[in-house]
Amino acid sequence: MDKRMILYRGSLKSCNYHCSYCPFSKHPISERELDRDRVQWWAFVKNLQKRAKALHIGALMVVPYGEAMIHRWYWEGMAQLSASADIDAAGIQTNLSFSVSEFLSSFEKAGGVPEKLRLWATFHPEMTTVSEFAAKCRELQNHGIPLCAGSVGVPENLPLLQALKQELNDIYLWVNKMDGLRRSYTQEEREAFEEIDPYFVRELMRVPSNAAMCQNRLFVEADGRLRTCNISSTLEKNWAALEDFPIPECSRKQCSCYLAYGGRGDFMNQVLFGPYPLFRIPRCPKAVFLDIDGTLLPSKDYGGEPCIADVAPDVMAGLEILARQKVHLLFATTLPYREAMERCRKIRHLFAGGIFAGGAHLVLEQKRETFYELEDTWLADLAALKKECCFRVLTYRNCGKLYKVTLLRPAHRPWLWQEAEMVMGHVSDRKAVRYYIEKNCLQIVSADAGKARGAEVLCRWLDISAKDAAAVGDSREDEEMMKRYRF
Ligand code: SF4
Repeated sequence: MDKRMILYRGSLKSCNYHCSYCPFSKHPISERELDRDRVQWWAFVKNLQKRAKALHIGALMVVPYGEAMIHRWYWEGMAQLSASADIDAAGIQTNLSFSVSEFLSSFEKAGGVPEKLRLWATFHPEMTTVSEFAAKCRELQNHGIPLCAGSVGVPENLPLLQALKQELNDIYLWVNKMDGLRRSYTQEEREAFEEIDPYFVRELMRVPSNAAMCQNRLFVEADGRLRTCNISSTLEKNWAALEDFPIPECSRKQCSCYLAYGGRGDFMNQVLFGPYPLFRIPRCPKAVFLDIDGTLLPSKDYGGEPCIADVAPDVMAGLEILARQKVHLLFATTLPYREAMERCRKIRHLFAGGIFAGGAHLVLEQKRETFYELEDTWLADLAALKKECCFRVLTYRNCGKLYKVTLLRPAHRPWLWQEAEMVMGHVSDRKAVRYYIEKNCLQIVSADAGKARGAEVLCRWLDISAKDAAAVGDSREDEEMMKRYRF
């Protein structure tokens, strides 16, 4: 199971900044309220340290109303969480108004691990300057703290954000859509914001809600109340008595902000932003291997009608972003090349080739191609079983050389493992081949062919190391590849 992520919001509702549009800048806070927030925060930190492993929680992000990083208890708590062996990463949203040197020394003193801290730094143009904000971002980055920076896409602020982008160099600058704009962005504005934030197009998409995509997330409030995400309604269970994550519930029509849609289990979130996409720090892979059936496109029955389905809009947007960033997009499919290209004709122009026929055929378009071939001496023995075992034999060849065999049954008669074993017992050179079952298809390829092996070869051809590649799939055939090329 993928590790889970939680968001935490304390009872704090105040900020040291006074941005004109923000309700928290006007909310004065008393010592008593601050005390309450501190006590609740420490109770939460201790509780999370104790239960992260049992609840399979790998990451936390603090999303306060107002500014939390001006309070030392957050510095120390984040340090302790980052030092916890069960926590992969601990992040917090901040306006970055704190003293970086004081924070770093306190964080270090409390045993914090900078590489496990994540900062989501929001630029507030009314309260700070581009150079002051960018200098702080760079200072934190130089101390090994991963972070993203960003701001609301106010059209009037475009020149400032363009300047900030320049100053931030390789630190990602996100742009949130402006909710109070009361009009659509013009084409020119959209393009300008996309120039700043290549993922801005995702901000403008409508993402219909789907609670099934929110199984590994939870939003925890200071008093222990729970929600599935920051905008969904309160659940019945309480954090203090939680034994396992509840079944996600959602009454929303849309996942309308990054904290909602960015934390869903959609694979494109992880391809673009790594295992904990809510931190919003781009993963920047150099190559991505994508399974077709059940991943890029809905699954289809073999031997059924050809299905040229559309790729989901969020997947399409992600693919286009990756292609623009010159990431090598590669298919990783059990389909033969021609069928894969036919099914993916709307997106094939974005792809540089891939792994086909379960790894028996590798292609780097217009550069290299290889096949893992099979001896065909045993084909006649298998063909003799056609009637008895109710299958047709489909063969796939390159220049006459066999590289894949499909034993195709009617759609209503899927293969069982025992039947497949019996049939494969008639293959004379059994060690030279491997087989896998896809519903009504028993697929036979060379023992050297597989998606993981194919990904390794393609990475070598492209001179890309395994850590710079990501793989996505949904079947047993994808498991090994996904283990090696994890997000
Ligand atoms: S609104 Fe929140 S809980 Fe509902 S589907 Fe979207 S992200 Fe999930």
